[in-house]
Amino acid sequence: MDKTIFQKIIEKEIPSDIIFEDELCIVIKDINPQAPIHLLIIPKKPIPKLADASKDDLEILGHLMLIVGNMSRQFNVEDAFNVVINNGEKAGQTVFHLHIHLLAGNDKLNLPK
Ligand code: 5GP
Repeated sequence: MDKTIFQKIIEKEIPSDIIFEDELCIVIKDINPQAPIHLLIIPKKPIPKLADASKDDLEILGHLMLIVGNMSRQFNVEDAFNVVINNGEKAGQTVFHLHIHLLAGNDKLNLPK
């Protein structure tokens, strides 16, 4: 299967605004932000979508959630942010490599388009 855009970003084949990286994940700024703060928390393991995750991915999934919290503190929005995971094309998923949207900075609900 062809590499997704996120796989290419993880492998540094294409540039991105990297906020954080560790052995399990990478955090980048969304190229088309839907809120003043719009980050993507992406596991390095190429799980296509949330529904494809298994028990083997428990550590990764938990880790991603903790990174969301860390990022919210780094950007001083820990009291008000939204987390979105689009699962499947009909739900608006466009990149088939699991990722969490962290949206913040508005005084209302932040949702990706
Ligand atoms: P999805 O619609 O799959 O939930 O979210 C994919 C997100 O990836 C979109 O918000 C889109 O703006 C973002 N995106 C797509 N291509 C790139 C890219 O090359 N770089 C960055 N930083 N974000 C991207």
